[in-house]
Amino acid sequence: MGAHKETLGFQAEVKQLLHLMIHSLYSNKEIFLRELISNASDACDKLRFEAIGQPELMEGGGELAIRVAFDKAARTITVSDNGIGMSRDEAVQHLGTIARSGTREFFAQLTGDQQKDAQLIGQFGVGFYSSFIVADRVTVISRRAGTGEAIKWESSGAGEFTIEPAERAERGTDVILHLKEGEDELLSHWQLKSILTKYSDHIATPIRMNKEEWDKDKGEHVTRDEEETVNQANALWARAKSDISDDQYKEFYRHVSHDFGEPLAWTHNRVEGKTEYIQLLYLPGKAPFDIWDRQSRHGIKLYVRRVFIMDDAEQLMPTYLRFVRGVIDSSDLPLNVSREILQESRDVRAIREGSTKRILGLLEDLAENRKDDYARFWAEFGQVLKEGIGEDHANKERIARLLRFSSTGSDAQAVSLADYVGRMKDKQKAIYYVTADTLEAAGNSPHLEVFRKKDVEVLLLADRIDEWMLGFLHEFDGRPLESIAKGDLDLGELADAAEKEEQARVADEYKELVGRVRTALGERVKDVRVTLRLTDSPACVVAERDAMSGHLARLLKAAGQKAPESKPILELNPHHPLVQRLKTEEASLAEWSALLLEQAVLAEGGQLDDPAAFVRRVNTLLLDAAK
Ligand code: ADP
Ligand code: MG
Repeated sequence: MGAHKETLGFQAEVKQLLHLMIHSLYSNKEIFLRELISNASDACDKLRFEAIGQPELMEGGGELAIRVAFDKAARTITVSDNGIGMSRDEAVQHLGTIARSGTREFFAQLTGDQQKDAQLIGQFGVGFYSSFIVADRVTVISRRAGTGEAIKWESSGAGEFTIEPAERAERGTDVILHLKEGEDELLSHWQLKSILTKYSDHIATPIRMNKEEWDKDKGEHVTRDEEETVNQANALWARAKSDISDDQYKEFYRHVSHDFGEPLAWTHNRVEGKTEYIQLLYLPGKAPFDIWDRQSRHGIKLYVRRVFIMDDAEQLMPTYLRFVRGVIDSSDLPLNVSREILQESRDVRAIREGSTKRILGLLEDLAENRKDDYARFWAEFGQVLKEGIGEDHANKERIARLLRFSSTGSDAQAVSLADYVGRMKDKQKAIYYVTADTLEAAGNSPHLEVFRKKDVEVLLLADRIDEWMLGFLHEFDGRPLESIAKGDLDLGELADAAEKEEQARVADEYKELVGRVRTALGERVKDVRVTLRLTDSPACVVAERDAMSGHLARLLKAAGQKAPESKPILELNPHHPLVQRLKTEEASLAEWSALLLEQAVLAEGGQLDDPAAFVRRVNTLLLDAAK
């Protein structure tokens, strides 16, 4: 297998990514070093972990370390580590393809605009390929721990790479960058060291460079054999908070999240007591591409007493907080803990509960004290957080306080349930809402008319998840949540005595007409009645109190699920001239009734069973009018 040199092609996405990276990230070119150090450190973490079960992988010990060197004459920079290394197949796989979830979504979002795309690519994670920003050829020599064979991988980043057998004295990896013309300023001890200090100080594995000193006779700097460690080389999360600068927190975020951007906020705590652990958890500034994939990578890295155990430890965070990134370092779990054990572990449950509380606390703090940041958070992750209403019974109340909605008083999703309750009218008992496919449809719903008239605020809900969430959120702060498109609208004490009298009076006055319309519509409706909830529209449809709303039934159908057949109730506005005309209408009553029903269904965002019949009816009317 592969005892000779082979030339292989990059996966198409890699070619695209390389092209994009080289062109849009040039102004950030020094990040290549951060990415290579990040990979070297991951490789050391992986070896430390695998060696727990297979100590022989350590090949007789030796401290795990990363080395950075440069060669002025050859114009190369080399980043070496004595970590896990790569076999031939691993090199082909890991350096020739992108296996990340969300890759397709990422490419679909590219615009061709360099600045916008640079942002996107940063979020996607630039990784190993960022080497090609400064290098026109990259050579990787690697030997997988526990094997005797080394490989040499090489590419000029133009679509192909070669792979062939090689020699390496020890396990680990060298990444050798052959610099492009004009990149010589990187060939300096001072320059490399300052990039490392800036981006990689938080790396727990020591990063070493040869010392340099000024040679008076030669009149230049010369490299000495003696090495120096250029980073602090201890786990950032285990340091005292007061010893960590905001910039260091941010760089560490980039390392754990593979996100180029900045975190919105973080929380760092040492938890003591029955279960002991350190948590350093971040809220990202932007949602990743695969946020809607509930199976997507979870962002928590698990360490046990500083030893890296696994990425994406999904048991450490509930699904509705899957956007959280960071590290949890447990003092209690065994080093050989597996995903299966995590599932069962009481310590893990305690960690998950503790971390959930921390994140909710962090969000509450943002909502209270950094409103702009909370609005940013909400725009990126609000819909995911809503899943928590159905998923996390214990914290439902806290999550409900964090929700933000649009309302008849505010277009932006900025109204909290507490704000709403604070603005409720004296006699108002319920929190009113209306759901629809879009905010416009919700805002134009005929059901809102009486609420506008009475100046009562109504929440406008148009996110796909809202109907599902409402199935779990029946009240807030002791007030029921009520759909205004359901049931016999009971405005309770919001309606005054005169209005109640008026309702009784019109019900009586229109009794006969209502009966005729009901007969005309037959099986198409559950019932017909008059209502005072409308001011401008002649009619509207509502669902029975316990029936599924029209909106939810449509969502279910769109998702290919069966929705129980539920017929609408048609409500007529007795003050509307059209309805008043109906009283004296004989010949066309059936047609007019059908039209009123059909337009009410359309106004609600619904679909007609027989749209052609509706069009025919409208045209007949138009022709009559034109006569
Ligand atoms: P990421 O670090 O996000 O996985 P990269 O593009 O940085 O993506 O690296 C791709 C993969 O290449 C890594 O996941 C790892 O499997 C492999 N790799 C890169 N550098 C090294 C290294 N120094 N030692 C071992 N494996 C490496
Ligand atoms: Mg990487």
